[in-house]
Amino acid sequence: MVRTVSDPGHASNGSTITIASEMHALRDFAELSAEWFWEQDAEFRFTRFFGRATEKLRRNESDFLGKRRWDMPIHGVTPEQLAEHIATYERHEAFRDFDYEVPGVGGIIQYYSVSGTPVFDPQGVFLGYHGVGRNVTELRLGELAIKASERQLSQIVDGSPIPTFVLDARHRVTHWNRACEKLTRLNAKEMLGQSNTWRAFYPAPRPSMADFVLSAATDEVIARSYEQFSHSSLIAGACEAQGFFPLMGDGGRWLYFTAAPLRDAQGKLTGAMETLQDITDQKRSQSLLEQLAARDSLTGISNRRCFDEKLRDEWKRERRDLRPLSLLMMDVDHFKLFNDTYGHQAGDLCLQRIANALQQVVCRPADLVARYGGEEFVAILSATDGPGAAIVAQRILDRVEELCIAHRANRGGHVTLSIGVATAIPQADRQPESLTAAADAALYRAKRNGRGRYVVD
Ligand code: GH3
Ligand code: MG
Ligand code: MG
Repeated sequence: MVRTVSDPGHASNGSTITIASEMHALRDFAELSAEWFWEQDAEFRFTRFFGRATEKLRRNESDFLGKRRWDMPIHGVTPEQLAEHIATYERHEAFRDFDYEVPGVGGIIQYYSVSGTPVFDPQGVFLGYHGVGRNVTELRLGELAIKASERQLSQIVDGSPIPTFVLDARHRVTHWNRACEKLTRLNAKEMLGQSNTWRAFYPAPRPSMADFVLSAATDEVIARSYEQFSHSSLIAGACEAQGFFPLMGDGGRWLYFTAAPLRDAQGKLTGAMETLQDITDQKRSQSLLEQLAARDSLTGISNRRCFDEKLRDEWKRERRDLRPLSLLMMDVDHFKLFNDTYGHQAGDLCLQRIANALQQVVCRPADLVARYGGEEFVAILSATDGPGAAIVAQRILDRVEELCIAHRANRGGHVTLSIGVATAIPQADRQPESLTAAADAALYRAKRNGRGRYVVD
């Protein structure tokens, strides 16, 4: 305001100049303001606009002059809201933020927000109204665009057959689709707005992968909850992991889950979306396949591949624990003649019965019996020394004897085995194959010494 220090604004000898300068200042404010100013007479008809109203209304201010607000087409309000607005006028009361829409230049809808207050003369006679108006079109269109994109996200998420949920920036659930309801057996109704997604997966509160992605957690922090997690190679900033969830479904479910960040145009994290894939069936067939891959199809006991792995593991373990490891290499005596005499099928049956017998004798949890190939079997005896292994070898011979499988061409008339026994305390400079070779050499000697016996290396 144009005032001097010596003139604190009281009407004095310079009052005319002061009023004029105040009017000038008000006009400046009106022009600089984002709002326009209006006046109405006692019949609520517009009499005056100022503050570059035409520009801000995006419509010619003269269109309104001489008319009431509701004399022209007015949209965006219900008949009840309009009736209430008119009633407020008739009661000569002030109103705030009355929002409505009118067609602007070129028929483009303009969104206005107006506030007004009644004007009375000093005697209390009602003179009319004056107030301000604001064009909020851009704000409304922005809000509508956000709503439209939210609706679109809802449609994408809800229409997806993949179980999916979405969190907002404050970790509250904004979407929990049908597929997610079905998988988790929790309804969207009870999840929306909540920050407790753990209920679907865990017995106690803990962050979901989406929570970690949303809080931009470090790898170290995520790994504390999801040891085997990885960064998605497909989606920037997304993390994925798999796990078994014993509380889900009947007997638990295996899930593969991916949490991806949601960002606004400025790149700010605004939420996170997590998809869940039920991989239980895949996992079951995978483990079945693994079991099958480790089994010998004729006898059902472990196969050569499984033996190789187990020998490597046990070798490492006993080396660490400084304990002896024993190996029995077994071969059916004159088995070619057995086949020749009784046929191949009888030969197969004989191998099955021997495998069965071996499993009965070698039954400690850390031990393993495998079919090494053809009519050869092998047994790993963990933490067993030479004398211990010799006892097991003798038991095997006895057990096979008890089976009493006729074998005319073999000495004694029954099926027998020859066994080579080798024992070692695994050393860093020796390979597990050295144990196999030693057992094989002992087996060869058992054959040479007359079969149906064991020889210790
Ligand atoms: P030795 O006492 O020296 O071991 O004599 P052998 O006849 O047992 O030895 P050889 O290696 O000459 O013969 C092994 C035989 O085992 C030959 C093969 O027909 C038989 N055989 C290997 N695998 C199977 C199988 O899966 N089923 C049957 N029925 N026979 C098999
Ligand atoms: Mg053989
Ligand atoms: Mg043989």
